[in-house]
Amino acid sequence: MSEERIVYVNGNYVPESEATVSVFDRGFLFADAVYEVTAVVGGKLIDFDGHVTRLKRSVAELSMPAEVDEAKLRGIHEELVSRNDIDEGLVYLQLTRGAADRDFLYPDTSTTPTLVLFTQKKAVVENPAAERGMAVVSLPDLRWDRRDIKTVQLLYPSMAKMEAKAQGADDAWLVEDGMVTEATSANAYIVTGDGTIVTRGLSNAILHGITRRAVLALAEEAGLKVEERGFTIDEAKAAREAFVTSASAFVMPVVSIDGAKIGDGSVGPLARRLRGIYLEALAA
Ligand code: PLP
Repeated sequence: MSEERIVYVNGNYVPESEATVSVFDRGFLFADAVYEVTAVVGGKLIDFDGHVTRLKRSVAELSMPAEVDEAKLRGIHEELVSRNDIDEGLVYLQLTRGAADRDFLYPDTSTTPTLVLFTQKKAVVENPAAERGMAVVSLPDLRWDRRDIKTVQLLYPSMAKMEAKAQGADDAWLVEDGMVTEATSANAYIVTGDGTIVTRGLSNAILHGITRRAVLALAEEAGLKVEERGFTIDEAKAAREAFVTSASAFVMPVVSIDGAKIGDGSVGPLARRLRGIYLEALAA
């Protein structure tokens, strides 16, 4: 954090040092909150509709009495991008059930949801990791079972990322019942010997990535074969390529798993091509 940003809190645009949320906010006390992260490239919001649609779904799944108004949210995003002069980076949005006296039961619907947004400047397109590729390690998936809801309960992903770093890697791929679910904050893919892109199918076990949906559609348009199914770490280690997708990383190659090289250990051609196709589609 360098210069002071303008952030959004409950209807107001304020300098970050003046932004406050109640200590009774259920986002703070119970992780009773959902979020979205939207990439900005050339000052433009990427896949904004998809993020709002998923936010609506998260809100509905948690019975939050919050109104999700796409036009209003787009306006706030655009205002923050403009006020903070974001050419490339991210907009983070968090919506909580609001402040109420501490109780495990949800408060009655008269509480006002808390809405907070802030921006982060980041080189999302010219990311050096895309040239280098990432090293990942496998770790057990110890998150709760509703990973399809994008809640702010990110402690286990954070612990897993710390463990990956302690092992000299960039990230972790999480494994449940012998199958890879996803990465700590991205969807996971392998490319098999015959060039098929394999990624786990949608269920409560993974977040339904907005970038996943876009990349799979682009892959199919490009005539590539896609299979939505689970895979093991052993299959991944023997794969031709591996990569992840997320709103902040786009398509990001993975070059090793648990110390074993994927393919020849360099960025795979298909991951490179998909990243290119995705970036071209953004620019269009
Ligand atoms: N899976 C998890 C657990 C995530 O946290 C994220 C993004 O934050 C993703 C997948 C990728 O989703 P998206 O492409 O919508 O950013």
